[in-house]
Amino acid sequence: MADTVYLNGAFMPLEDARIPVLDRGFIFGDGVYEVVPAYSRTPFRMAEHLRRLQHSLDGIRIANPMSDAEWSKLAAELIAKNDGEDQSIYLQVTRGVAKRDHAFPKDMKQTVFMMSSPLTTPSQAQIDHGASAITASDFRWLKCDVKSVSLLGNCLLRQMAADAGAVETILFRDGKLTEASASNVFVVKNGVLLAPPKNNLVLPGITYDVVLEIAHAREFEVEVREVSEAETRDADEIWVTSSTKEVLAVTTLDGKPVGDGAPGMLFRRMHALYQDFKRDVMRKPA
Ligand code: PMP
Repeated sequence: MADTVYLNGAFMPLEDARIPVLDRGFIFGDGVYEVVPAYSRTPFRMAEHLRRLQHSLDGIRIANPMSDAEWSKLAAELIAKNDGEDQSIYLQVTRGVAKRDHAFPKDMKQTVFMMSSPLTTPSQAQIDHGASAITASDFRWLKCDVKSVSLLGNCLLRQMAADAGAVETILFRDGKLTEASASNVFVVKNGVLLAPPKNNLVLPGITYDVVLEIAHAREFEVEVREVSEAETRDADEIWVTSSTKEVLAVTTLDGKPVGDGAPGMLFRRMHALYQDFKRDVMRKPA
């Protein structure tokens, strides 16, 4: 089956989807997006993704073009039209097409796009041995809680990891851990799970919330607080989390082993619990 996408009211083959060059998404990166994993053709945590979409839209003053029920219906239709039991649903809303001017157009019609890709989660080798990450100074803007399509900062930072043969670039701002170029970051020290708090410097990750929910339910020792760069470099374990990476151990940071250089005990526990959690949710969809 050819990839089917949704654009402004219609489903079509990916090759046929076109937007005008004056779309503000193209000209200014003026839009927001979501990536929702679907397991067994069921979106995972859809309500939470839609809540974050609303937060992002509010953050850049675009009216939500659809109700949650409409978004969910659209996602279900797109999933049905594409191959694969596990899919990654990408949706994007931009401020639409207008004569180029930084200020917002008076009358605007949002551009709405949705596509599906195969969901690629970490390989068994990555789960078993962990991944490598590098570090960089977080030079992005101060509205990182908005899931903006203006991803140039994230792209430059992620490319630094790619150039180094690493999976992620972990970021520090003013000596504090924020997140990574496309994931949230957790640190384990002396058996305590440390999580940087949600604020304007990080994306409020849906997976971050799931991990904290599991950690609280299973009585992990958890501290949600600022984590220093020094603590991160001295961590027993580092995890990165995202909808596609799920929970992944970072075992090498800037070429040095994290802890003993293998995925830690708490990671292995959390990884197993996360997989169980997913399966349970899929068995009884909300
Ligand atoms: N931070 C950034 C910068 C991201 O791009 C992502 C992935 N979209 C995340 C965190 C993780 O968010 P989620 O768990 O919702 O995928």
